[in-house]
Amino acid sequence: MQSHSIYIHIPFCQHRCNYCDFNTYAGLEKLIPAYVQALQREIFLIANTMEEKLPVHTVFFGGGTPSLLPASALTQILHTLKANFAAQHDAEISLEANPGTLTENYLCELRNMGINRLSLGMQSANPRELKFLERIHDYADVIHAVQWARRAGFDNLSLDLIFGLPEQRTKVWVESLKLALELAPEHFSLYALTLEHGTPLGSWAARGLIPEPDPDLAADMYELATEMLDVAGYQQYEISNWTLASNVERRESPDLACLHNLQYWRNQPYLGLGAGAHGFANGLRTVNVLSPKAYIQRLSTSNVQPATIFPRTPATIEANSIDRDTEMRETMFMGLRLTREGVSDARFLARFGSSMRQIFAQEIQQLLDWELLMWENDTLHLTPRGRLLGNQVFMQFV
Ligand code: SF4
Repeated sequence: MQSHSIYIHIPFCQHRCNYCDFNTYAGLEKLIPAYVQALQREIFLIANTMEEKLPVHTVFFGGGTPSLLPASALTQILHTLKANFAAQHDAEISLEANPGTLTENYLCELRNMGINRLSLGMQSANPRELKFLERIHDYADVIHAVQWARRAGFDNLSLDLIFGLPEQRTKVWVESLKLALELAPEHFSLYALTLEHGTPLGSWAARGLIPEPDPDLAADMYELATEMLDVAGYQQYEISNWTLASNVERRESPDLACLHNLQYWRNQPYLGLGAGAHGFANGLRTVNVLSPKAYIQRLSTSNVQPATIFPRTPATIEANSIDRDTEMRETMFMGLRLTREGVSDARFLARFGSSMRQIFAQEIQQLLDWELLMWENDTLHLTPRGRLLGNQVFMQFV
């Protein structure tokens, strides 16, 4: 049976940042105990639609702010996962954490329960930028979080940073990146700020109260970051992600890429559990009900459960079957995000029984002509220009 990944969504935050369009809520923390119970029930129900225990090699607690959950709640969830799935003994278990929510003791508890990868939302080292983004933490919290995480035994740390803020100066971005590099994480995720419709920041920009970010300046910042990370010994493996090429002192594995996210980019199956979570398994793309209250209600034991077919659960509100053509297109545009790995024609042929050279002959030729893609033996990659204009590439396959 093919190994799956599991994404678990925790839709709670202390404060809702003004740029965020994730499915997350401030002020609903009182729902956490019932939500944790509902999650355990969803895990049990989805696992029991299968005759055999499904092999699992990655688990990702994302949000929201998973680090708002008490350690005892995370332990219960992990326990339920391990009891209901065939989790690989060295499975990657990641948790996203807000540096403003952590203590050393909590991080020790996370490490002791088997969480082995921590992703810290640093965003910036600059106090004015953090205030502008309405983050609840400051740079000192990030330093402490990294020190405590190391003492707790975490050897796979990732830092998330945001660039391309309105009126952000390149000098300030470089300073944040330098301070982040001093913390020596194994992994970086760097994202350009997007002003999402429906967020306060999006509406302030639409009303002219703040300037729109400058896309050319953001592209320069991205290129600068790519150079700085390269010099510091990080290898880019995805448009927004970098990892230390090897870190033999701390961990034997030469590759610290996020295995969970690789599963998405390789268009491989994963279960999405929790309010608003998305999944892709058994040829279906699933979406769960958004509201945490509705989620809890749908999974309450007093509800009469409809029969579920893997990977549907009572929380599923959409399950769209993915035909071969769509799956091939998705495999192309997600795989091309992987800057090192790209999309191999041999693997495509093994998966779909046809060569991508034939299926997408026209699209590929167009992108080669525009110098956005290049061949390396039988593998198609983005060119450096293609990394900057990724959306133009992906649109060809949508
Ligand atoms: S902490 Fe993260 S998930 Fe929560 S509101 Fe801020 S950006 Fe969104």
